[in-house]
Amino acid sequence: MTQDKTNVVIVGAGIYGMSTALWMLQSGKYNVTMLDKCGILPAPDAASTDLNKIIRSADYADPHLASLALEAVEFWRKPEWEGTYHESGVMALAAAGEKEGEEFVSKAYENCKNLGINVQLLDNLKDIKDTYKNQRIPLGQFGDRKGYLNPIGGWAESGRALEVGLKRVRRLGGIVRAGAEVVGLIKNGKTISGVEIKGGDQVKGDIVLIAAGAWTPALCALPGVSARLPEVVATGQSVAVMQLTPEEHESYSSTPVVFNLDDGWYIFPPNPEGLVKMAIHGAGVLNPQENGVSIPRTKLTPGAEDGAIPLTMLKSLRKGLKEVYPELAKKDYMTTRLCWYCDSVTGDWLIDYHPDYDNLIIATGDSGHGFKFTPNIGREILKVIEKNPSPEYAERWAFNYTQKSIEEQGGSKEKLSDVSSKEPETAKAGADVRAGQRKVLRKEDLVKPNDLKAKSAKL
Ligand SMILES: Cc1cc2nc3c(=O)[nH]c(=O)nc-3n(C[C@H](O)[C@H](O)[C@H](O)COP(=O)(O)OP(=O)(O)OC[C@H]3O[C@@H](n4cnc5c(N)ncnc54)[C@H](O)[C@@H]3O)c2cc1C
Repeated sequence: MTQDKTNVVIVGAGIYGMSTALWMLQSGKYNVTMLDKCGILPAPDAASTDLNKIIRSADYADPHLASLALEAVEFWRKPEWEGTYHESGVMALAAAGEKEGEEFVSKAYENCKNLGINVQLLDNLKDIKDTYKNQRIPLGQFGDRKGYLNPIGGWAESGRALEVGLKRVRRLGGIVRAGAEVVGLIKNGKTISGVEIKGGDQVKGDIVLIAAGAWTPALCALPGVSARLPEVVATGQSVAVMQLTPEEHESYSSTPVVFNLDDGWYIFPPNPEGLVKMAIHGAGVLNPQENGVSIPRTKLTPGAEDGAIPLTMLKSLRKGLKEVYPELAKKDYMTTRLCWYCDSVTGDWLIDYHPDYDNLIIATGDSGHGFKFTPNIGREILKVIEKNPSPEYAERWAFNYTQKSIEEQGGSKEKLSDVSSKEPETAKAGADVRAGQRKVLRKEDLVKPNDLKAKSAKL
């Protein structure tokens, strides 16, 4: 460790932690130690670790997020991300009459155009089908949706990108410790002098950054940590994967990401192994512990190794697939996974100093749309740490933002939420549009292996 540098302890080796570590190390002003509870890194059950994630360039209703996302794409194209980014284009759609979704798509379209992207308006089914004319694949009715095709953007091999990033952190002199579960903070009044690891070890630092993704609320509720948070909650989101034959792989290889910005259903083109992932960016499920705090239930949780998702979600995934690629909807699913967001009320991230301590920073609240910002989110987190936040985000990422906003708007969370809490079918627009109603995860609602078979779906 170099003595004249600030020593930083980062809790969590997902993309929030990794990207911050990279920007810190590149600045030359910090020594960085990253700690992750998982024995293997990237942690197989981290939100960041997956086959792929959508890289939307500018497809946001919010102009600031749109330009931050477009800037991220410019970084993704650089050699340091080792070709993990694939520019397939993104088709952003919403059904007529789905007010929130339609508004979102129309604002996103305007933002793309204002940022100079040559987006193609898709006004009807024919326009949509025309974009596939070189591919000769059977297409569905797309749920009578319309929207636009953005040629910039696509998807990233997210697990590999995190691996590449962690490798760079190590190369720049950062320490990355696997199997180091943080269970406590070492407190001296308002100062945190380090963290305690399960088993009794301590890691000291001048600054502690908690970037534990969907585990952050449970971590902060531990007696040894006991750090209050604004409302952020772990929600489980449903993902399913299908294996294509080599012929199917070839046929679907040039498809774009298709993203319904009303009901949240989306699908990727096949990855290099011919695996097709689809998911729903929705309200999600809760997994409350005895203290009421929802905690991720993942493939690493004893008894949950099968990655089962709610049967209703599997049915919605197949319904969405039938609307877009009806032939694929006749195939079996190979695997499913519950992947966990750390949801804030508004869909804005929580990146701020903890008000009760001088040197504790929280960076979480990804709300299911953080991955695309892997290359530049760490710069924004570092600006907050250096007390020089980007003015357009300073307030909305602040610790007191949610509570303050709720109070300013008459105390109603409903007005702000990007997830409906009352009407099951209503999509709401915060930073994103998220449909559905949050429910508590019940084991009896989860799929059994047979449910993955096409023959058990009534097509
Ligand atoms: C199903 C799904 C689909 C998504 N799709 C997209 C998408 O298409 N595009 C997009 O931009 N974003 C997407 N996202 C969101 C994106 O994945 C997240 O915003 C991002 O990965 C969050 O990163 P993170 O670092 O906050 O959390 P994580 O990646 O979950 O990392 C947190 C890390 O903290 C560690 N940890 C937890 N507790 C402790 C502890 N006590 N001690 C030490 N370590 C600890 C964990 O092991 C983990 O490695 C999706 C998320 C999910 C779940």
